[in-house]
Amino acid sequence: MTADITVTASGVVEALRGRLRGEVATPSDARYGELVAGFHLAFAHTPPVAVGPTGVDDVVAIVTLAREAGLPVTALGEGHGFHRGVSDGILVRTRGLRSVTVDPATNTARIGAGTKWQEVADAAAPFGLTPLSGSDAGVGAVGYVLGGGLGPLGRTYGYGADAVISFDVVTGDGRALTVDDQHHAELFWALRGGNHGLGIVTAMTVRLVPLDTVHGNAWYYAATDVEAVLRDWVRWCGGIPDTMNTYAHLVRMPDDPELPEPLRGQTLLELIHIYVGDESDGLELVEPLLRSAEPVFHEPGRVREDTMAPVTVADGGIYLDDLDDEAVDAILALAGPQHSYDDVPLVSVGLQRLGGALASPRTSSNAVTGRDAAYAFHVIGAEPDVIDTVITDQIRALHCCVDRLKSSGTIPNYIGKANEPGEVDRAWLPDVRRQLGRVREQYDPDGIFRDSHTN
Ligand SMILES: Cc1cc2nc3c(=O)[nH]c(=O)nc-3n(C[C@H](O)[C@H](O)[C@H](O)COP(=O)(O)OP(=O)(O)OC[C@H]3O[C@@H](n4cnc5c(N)ncnc54)[C@H](O)[C@@H]3O)c2cc1C
Repeated sequence: MTADITVTASGVVEALRGRLRGEVATPSDARYGELVAGFHLAFAHTPPVAVGPTGVDDVVAIVTLAREAGLPVTALGEGHGFHRGVSDGILVRTRGLRSVTVDPATNTARIGAGTKWQEVADAAAPFGLTPLSGSDAGVGAVGYVLGGGLGPLGRTYGYGADAVISFDVVTGDGRALTVDDQHHAELFWALRGGNHGLGIVTAMTVRLVPLDTVHGNAWYYAATDVEAVLRDWVRWCGGIPDTMNTYAHLVRMPDDPELPEPLRGQTLLELIHIYVGDESDGLELVEPLLRSAEPVFHEPGRVREDTMAPVTVADGGIYLDDLDDEAVDAILALAGPQHSYDDVPLVSVGLQRLGGALASPRTSSNAVTGRDAAYAFHVIGAEPDVIDTVITDQIRALHCCVDRLKSSGTIPNYIGKANEPGEVDRAWLPDVRRQLGRVREQYDPDGIFRDSHTN
C-alpha cells in the first residue's frame, strides 16, 4: 500500500476529493449525470461515486484509493461497449484525458483515453493519414482497440488492436507503466484484444495509414432480389482481394420522410463496398455483383457513419468460419423480407467479410482471436419495448441457425447484450483465455477492475 492515509469505503469520496485534480461526483452533485452518461439508453450507470481524472496522477490515486477501500473500479469511455449499468464502486470517466497528437514523420498518433475516433480522424486527415477506426466515429478509440477493433478497412490493414504501438496504463497495483513489445510485453499482448481487467489505459500510440481517399459505395436491392443477391455476394466474397472490404446488411428502413423514396419503409439488402486503390479497379471488382440484380438505390461515398446519438438497442455478434446457400436460406427464413417489422423488429442483420490482413497480425501477436473466421455476423434491434424479449430471442435464434459454421473465436467488441450469457468469456480461444487470466492476476492482483459485459 502506497497511500499515505487509511481509506475506508465511507471516506473514499472525501479522500478522492482531497487527492484528485479532476472531478469527483456523487449522485447528488450536478456534474454526476454527465460523468455517468453513456451510449445506451436501455440502462443507466448509478455508481456511488464517479470521477473524471485529468492526468495520470489522478488515475494512480483513484486506483490506489479503490484498492485500499476494497472498491471495484470501472473505466467508462463513450459507453458503447456496456451491456449493463454500473451500480457499485468507482466509475472512471476518461473524457478528461482526451488528446490527439499526430506525428507525420512516423505516421503515428498519440491518443489520450476518452478520445473519440472522429477526433483522431480529424487530426490525421490534414497529413493524408487515417486511423483504423470502426464503423461509428463516435466510438472511443481506447475501448475500441481493447476489444479488438474490426473496422471498414480491416481486410486491408488489420484490426485496430494490431495498429497499437504502445499503451500508457495504470495497473491494479497502482503502477503507471508504458507497455510495448519490449516493456511488459505480456501486458501489451493482453491489452490488444483482451478487453477488460488489465488496467486503466491513459493514452496509447497507434500507427496511422497513409490514405487520403477510400472509395465507398452502398447499393440497395429490393426485397424480391435479396435472396439471389445475398447468395451471389457470398460467392463473390470468395474471390476478392485484400483491398476490397465489404458488408451485406438486411435492413428494415423506417418510414422516414427524410429517406430517399426507394428506401423509405422498405426491407432491403444493403451491400457496402470499400475499396483501397484506384476507383475504377474497385468498380470493376464490383461489376459482377451489379449484374446480379438492378439496385434500387446507390449511395456513393459511404464508408463510415457519423457519430450516432445514444439509443435503446440490443445487438449480438458471432464469427462464422464460412457461409453457404444453406446458411443464407436459414438466415432469410428467420429474418428475410417476407416478415413484417412488427414480426421481426430487427433493424440490421449484418455480415462482414473477414480475412485478408485480419487473418494474421502484421505486428507482434496479441489477444485478438477468431483470425481464421470468414465472416462477422452481427444483428441489431432497436425497438425499446422488446429489446430484452423478442429481439434478444430472435438474435439468438439467428446465431443458432448458423451454429454449425460458428467460429471458436470472436472479438469482444462484437459481443452484445443479446448474445448468450457468458459469451464474452468464450470470445477467446482456450489458450488465449488462460493466458489472459494469468496476465490479469499479475497486473490486477486484487481483481479491482470490472468488465462491462456481465454483472
Ligand atoms: C454504434 C456502434 C458501432 C460500433 N462499431 C464497431 C465497429 O465497427 N467495430 C468494432 O470493433 N466495434 C464496434 N463497436 C463496439 C465498440 O467498438 C466497443 O463497444 C468499444 O469498446 C466502445 O468504446 P467506448 O469508448 O464506447 O468504450 P466503453 O463502452 O466506454 O468501454 C468499453 C470497454 O472498454 C473499457 N475501457 C474503456 N476505456 C478504457 C480505458 N481508458 N482503460 C481501460 N478500459 C477502458 C471499459 O471498461 C469497457 O470494458 C460499435 C459499438 C456501437 C454501439
